[in-house]
Amino acid sequence: MERERTDVTGVTGKVTAIVLAAGQGKRMQSKIQKQYLLLDGKPLLYYSLKAFEQSSVDEIVLVVSKDMMQYCEREIVAQFGFQKIAKIVEGGKERYHSVYEGLKAASDAEIVLIHDGARPLVTQKIIEDSILAAVEYKACAVGMPVKDTIKIVNEDQYAVRTPERRRVWQIQTPQAFSYMLLRKAYDLLMRDEKCQEGITDDAMVVETMLNVPVKLIEGSYSNMKVTTPEDMEIARVLRQ
Ligand code: C5P
Repeated sequence: MERERTDVTGVTGKVTAIVLAAGQGKRMQSKIQKQYLLLDGKPLLYYSLKAFEQSSVDEIVLVVSKDMMQYCEREIVAQFGFQKIAKIVEGGKERYHSVYEGLKAASDAEIVLIHDGARPLVTQKIIEDSILAAVEYKACAVGMPVKDTIKIVNEDQYAVRTPERRRVWQIQTPQAFSYMLLRKAYDLLMRDEKCQEGITDDAMVVETMLNVPVKLIEGSYSNMKVTTPEDMEIARVLRQ
């Protein structure tokens, strides 16, 4: 079937979202991984999956830790009747390992979106804007300009630089790419251990491995990542 947005963007292939939920979430100080803590009666992970399920994304690849695969199949996919979750795959030690497992499972995609399962407040607009930007720019990431002044510090914690605030953005997910581009960047990263240190997002992989610029588009300040117990409370309030 012809995609609705073909007229606007020219994307004819598959759009796949890789939702990451294989992290241990140590900063949450909870035995349960943060993505499975309940937010208004449903696991945190449910909310981002639901957002992608309702979007124009064709398929979702869910990346989880080995011990949570069965739980996800029964208590999330079956329980909530998700139709677009095509695969559940096992993640790896670091986030970039998990992304790579997701990428291998999504090899028929034209456009791929990588999303942190710990960001429950992603909206339809953010998802659709990301897809359009990926088609136009090949590599894009959602973010927002910082509100606070940012200082770069030296090893002794003295401020050494104050970057111009409007040029400093905090980066969120989704980050969306041409599949071929992102896969090439990750193939190179996985072959070179030296480059793996300090990798915290996908844009960085494309920037450093391929020297391809990543377009930033505005997400929202509400598209927060739940990391600490207080964040759960903030997410609960922002959801209302
Ligand atoms: O640790 P951090 O909060 O940066 O993790 C961001 C997202 O990446 C979370 O949704 C987490 O579950 C996921 N992740 C993963 N595999 C890892 C580490 C993190 O899927 N090894």
